[in-house]
Amino acid sequence: MADKFGVVVIGAGAAGLMCAAEAGKRGRSVLVVDHGKKPGRKVLISGGGRCNFTNYDVAANNYVCRNPHFVKSALSQYTQWDFIAMVAKHEIAYEERDHGQLFCEDSAKDIVNMLLAECDQPTIEQRYRCDVHDIAKTEAGFSLKLNTASVECESLVIATGGLSMPKLGATPFGYQVAEQFGLNMVPTTAGLVPFTLHKEEKEAFAELSGIAIPAVVEAEDGTTFKENLLFTHRGLSGPVILQISSYWTPGQKVTVDLLPDLELADTLATMREKHPNQSLKNSLSRLLPKRLIEVLIERGDIQDKPLKQFNPKEIAAMAAYFHQWQIAPNGTEGYRTAEVTLGGVDTDELSSKTMEAKQVSGLYFVGEVMDVSGWLGGYNFQWAWSSGFVAGQHA
Ligand code: FAD
Repeated sequence: MADKFGVVVIGAGAAGLMCAAEAGKRGRSVLVVDHGKKPGRKVLISGGGRCNFTNYDVAANNYVCRNPHFVKSALSQYTQWDFIAMVAKHEIAYEERDHGQLFCEDSAKDIVNMLLAECDQPTIEQRYRCDVHDIAKTEAGFSLKLNTASVECESLVIATGGLSMPKLGATPFGYQVAEQFGLNMVPTTAGLVPFTLHKEEKEAFAELSGIAIPAVVEAEDGTTFKENLLFTHRGLSGPVILQISSYWTPGQKVTVDLLPDLELADTLATMREKHPNQSLKNSLSRLLPKRLIEVLIERGDIQDKPLKQFNPKEIAAMAAYFHQWQIAPNGTEGYRTAEVTLGGVDTDELSSKTMEAKQVSGLYFVGEVMDVSGWLGGYNFQWAWSSGFVAGQHA
């Protein structure tokens, strides 16, 4: 005979564990299953092992979603302050970094242990190395065939995440469940991911690998971010590139301000007055790494000569080149290194208040599996906590 549960949660990641803990607090009998051998694998490697678990400043515009209003209800039902209070209750030391990002002081393990402690309730059972072979709708809810047994439940929560980092157990399982129940999908693609470059640029920039500079990057839709840009042997990375990658589509250009903190035309005019015989290359090398200047001057077909030989028109053109450096990425590094998956289960199919599928009573989706992706900075985990929490109040 099949085991019976109030709620089955598939996926013991950030959103699934949060949801299970909350459903358990309501007295629901909960089974959490995961095909991996342990819970929270992405949490453990996140934030360089320190987990950027939320942000002091969370708003709907920190998320990419076809319906920009969808996230508002869950984010207000369970805020960053609620999660910070839970972290404080478990006496986890944390620190604020740039842009209000909150990280564990010691280890991301603290967050996984906290979630497991929250799930340590008599009515919650967890099963690992557990595959789900089949899901069927029944009158009372759902019946599931697992590799170990068959189970029945009233509510089913899909918390299997997106496609990024297949090595950590990512699968398209959640999308397949959505399709099985006739839910629309927003096409998926890698987000928060480094850019690759066309062969010629890749070769030209390869020698710059390791150089990091502050930059403002703008996508064709006008979205901008200001953070560090990193040249790598494969292309462009660093936080500013990861951020803008979520607003880029193949074939588009991005515009980079390589000197966002000054007006190059004014700076060069001042330098020209003070050091008229100084070469352009040496002048610019005071502002940016020399190797980068050499490559950019060569690629921009700019003549290196003493500053006094540049007329105001040439200076203006050069300023525009450095403030509006355009680059057309060849693509991205894809799901192998992406932090998130853009797209997923269409949020129009879900109640923004409960995460339940509008057309399939008892079926819930939480976390990254749906078409909600956050910026870099703790926003993706905050979505996992908020969506997991609200589903946990209703499942
Ligand atoms: P996941 O955490 O991915 O959990 C999904 C779970 O489902 C996994 O345990 C998986 O094993 C299980 N599963 C998948 N398929 C099946 C199946 N077929 N059967 C059974 N179980 C299945 N976000 C931040 O906010 N801050 C950060 O610092 C941060 N750092 C990151 C660093 C890296 C390298 C990566 C890849 C991501 C990072 N993210 C970060 C994003 C964040 O990890 C995710 O958005 C978040 O984990 C999504 O939570 P989730 O519960 O929806 O999915």
